[in-house]
Amino acid sequence: MIAIIGAGLGGLTLARILHVNGIEAVVYEAESSLTARTQGGMLDIHEESGQAALKAAGLYDDFLRIIMPGGESMKVYDQHGVLRLSHDHEGSGRPEVHRRDLRGLLLGGLPDGTIRWGAKVVETSADRKVRLADGSTFTADLLIGADGAWSKVRPLVSDAIPAYLGLSFAELNLLDPETRHQDSADLIGGGMMMALGAGRGLLAHREPDRLHVYAAVQVDEPWTAITKDDLLAGFDGWDDRLLRLVRESDTEPFPRAIHALPIGHQWKRIPGVTLLGDAAHLMSPFAGEGANLAMQDAAELAAALIAQPDDAEAALATYESALFPRAEAAAAESAANLEISFAPDAPAGILAFFAALG
Ligand SMILES: Cc1cc2nc3c(=O)[nH]c(=O)nc-3n(C[C@H](O)[C@H](O)[C@H](O)COP(=O)(O)OP(=O)(O)OC[C@H]3O[C@@H](n4cnc5c(N)ncnc54)[C@H](O)[C@@H]3O)c2cc1C
Repeated sequence: MIAIIGAGLGGLTLARILHVNGIEAVVYEAESSLTARTQGGMLDIHEESGQAALKAAGLYDDFLRIIMPGGESMKVYDQHGVLRLSHDHEGSGRPEVHRRDLRGLLLGGLPDGTIRWGAKVVETSADRKVRLADGSTFTADLLIGADGAWSKVRPLVSDAIPAYLGLSFAELNLLDPETRHQDSADLIGGGMMMALGAGRGLLAHREPDRLHVYAAVQVDEPWTAITKDDLLAGFDGWDDRLLRLVRESDTEPFPRAIHALPIGHQWKRIPGVTLLGDAAHLMSPFAGEGANLAMQDAAELAAALIAQPDDAEAALATYESALFPRAEAAAAESAANLEISFAPDAPAGILAFFAALG
């Protein structure tokens, strides 16, 4: 039995590609349903990774129907509210899609019963025995950790633990923007907006029914709770139009501390066990690659298992030999982008980065 732990984008992509190639797997997911948690966040899906995986999953045409028109546009401001870059990236090959819609698309392509909802893994052991929170156990022939940052499968292959990167986000939402937050909607535009200054940033996306904002601040201790007033105090001196994204949020700030695994995280081959996505290479979101890599990992792991159906060990070795250098390069890019995004002269570094990309 192939057990995939985690029904995020990585786990679902793997299950779907295996399914269309006649290989069934069971996905164990801690949450009780797809809608148990808000699925905030637009994701730009890259041609060479996320989109290629959707093609392998036979879902590319359906994907084209859920992309957000105009979502590729980008605006960069400085902390004084001066617009420093405005780009309509239409046709960039990186269309934006809502995470909830993408997960829904992948889920819809799986036979009933593939996902075991509410199945939280609490322990795994080297013989691939898995214990769930309800006390039940099972043993997998092949155990795949697609269970994100705090993977319960990772300890079977590696001692690495994600480290806090000294950056905390607070998630905010301005609902019903056309009627209630028109000025903020204009500030953000149809896609993504970044406002950057030394050690701080406001990162926002236009979503179909809301403006989704992350207030990001470099702080030594990870935020576990934060109020709007504390947030506003941290952005003292910023342009008032930008601060309205915090002040006028319709939801209280929800903290998210940013962690990463070491750049170049890898492991020795352990029989019948592997990782994909954030479980394998958690990185900060500043390369915009995490979801794309999770889907690419899934597609490459599926391809290796399909190509070598009678030799899972060889398939896992093939998969991991490409995974490690790919993940290392993306993690290094992510770390470099984080540094320039919050440098004392921000947004200069990120403007130079985009200029170099042309
Ligand atoms: C603020 C922010 C913004 C981001 N923006 C982008 C972006 O623009 N573009 C991009 O490409 N990436 C982005 N990312 C990164 C992206 O979200 C992740 O890299 C991606 O979701 C990883 O997918 P995954 O399937 O590996 O893991 P996840 O999406 O984390 O899915 C893991 C699944 O496993 C389940 N699970 C966890 N533990 C257990 C357990 N013990 N038992 C059973 N199930 C379990 C979870 O409930 C979850 O459903 C961003 C991340 C953050 C934090």
